[in-house]
Amino acid sequence: MKKKVLITGIMGQDGAYLAKFLLSKKYKVYGAYRRNSNYENNRLRRLGIEDKIELIDLEINEFTSVNYVINKIKPDEIYNLAAMSFVASSFDQPLYTINTNFFALINILEVMKNSKKKISLYQASTSEMFGNSTKKSINENTNFDPASPYGISKVGSHYLVRLYRKAYNLDCCSGILFNHESPLRGEEFVTKKIIRQLCEILNNKRKIMYLGNIYAKRDWGFAPDYVEAMWKMLQIKNKDDFIIGTGKCYSIKEFINKTCKYLKINIKWTGKGINEKCINLNSNKAIIKISKKFYRPLDVNHLKSNPLKAKKILNWAAKTNLSAIIKKMCDDQISSFN
Ligand code: GDP
Repeated sequence: MKKKVLITGIMGQDGAYLAKFLLSKKYKVYGAYRRNSNYENNRLRRLGIEDKIELIDLEINEFTSVNYVINKIKPDEIYNLAAMSFVASSFDQPLYTINTNFFALINILEVMKNSKKKISLYQASTSEMFGNSTKKSINENTNFDPASPYGISKVGSHYLVRLYRKAYNLDCCSGILFNHESPLRGEEFVTKKIIRQLCEILNNKRKIMYLGNIYAKRDWGFAPDYVEAMWKMLQIKNKDDFIIGTGKCYSIKEFINKTCKYLKINIKWTGKGINEKCINLNSNKAIIKISKKFYRPLDVNHLKSNPLKAKKILNWAAKTNLSAIIKKMCDDQISSFN
C-alpha cells in the first residue's frame, strides 16, 4: 500500500517542492489549504504536479476541522508547513502569526495524541528562533533568542513538539531550517525581490529598487535540497531535531554583488547608511537606494548554521551553493519575461 502524507501549507514554496519529492517516492499526497485564503496553486502548476495531489480544505485553527481531516485521511506522515512566514509582516500581525504558527500545531498534536494509528509529524522550525544569538555558528545546542513575533511563535511550536515527544512518546520532530530560496520563493523575501527587480532593471522595466538593511547576513540554501532533509528526519527511528543549513553566510550586499556579476551589470557602491547607493557604471545612474521603509523594528543581523549533526545522522548536506541558486533564480526570472 502507498504511504499517505498530509502536507499543510501545500501552496507555499516548501509545500510544493516537498509534494514533488514525495510523489517521486511514491507517496499518496494530500495537500491542505485554506479555502478562504487567496487560493493560488501556481507553484504546484509550475512544478507540473497540480493534478497529482488531492487538495483538502483545512481550517488549521479549528480543532474540529483538523480532527476531521486527519481521521479521514489517516496519514502515515504529516508535514506542518502552514505558517505566516514573513518576518516583517509578523511585526504588523503578531496575533495572526501566533495563532497560525503556534495554536494550530496544538490541534495537530492533540489529534495525534488521541489517534490509534501511529502518525509521524515534521514541524517546520526556523533559524529565526536564534535571533541575535552571539554565536558565530549555530548548532542544536545554541540557545534561542527570537527577535520577532514570527521567531517567538516558532520557538513556542518547537517546544510543543519536544513536549509531546517526551510526555506522550509521539513520533514527532522539528527541522530548524535556515533560509532557503528557489525560483518559487515568495516575492516579499529579499533574494526574490533583488533578483526580480534587478532583472526588471536589466530589461528596462524598472529604473530603481529600494532595500532596507543590506548588512544583514544569511545562510542561504536551496529549497529542493532542504525538503529532502525534512523527509530524512521522518525516516529515522529515534526522532530528534536537526539544524539544516549550508554552514556559509553572506550579506545582502554580497548577494547583490553576486547577482549583478551573473547578470553582467557593472556596479559600484557609494555613500553610507541611509545614503548608500548602488550605481550602474554603464548608465552612471543609481539602481539601488536604501529606504527606511524596509527596516524592521528589530532585525537579525547574522545567521550561520553548523549542520554537522544532519551530516552525521541523516547523511544530509546542502548540494547547491549560493552562486548556483542565484543562477537558477535569475534564469527563471528572465524566462518569465519572454
Ligand atoms: P528572513 O531571514 O526570514 O527575515 O528573510 P528575508 O528575505 O525577508 O530577509 C532577510 C534579511 O534581508 C533581513 O535581515 C532583512 O532586514 C533584510 N532586508 C533588507 N532589505 C530588505 C527588503 O527590502 N525586503 C526584505 N524582505 N528583507 C530585506
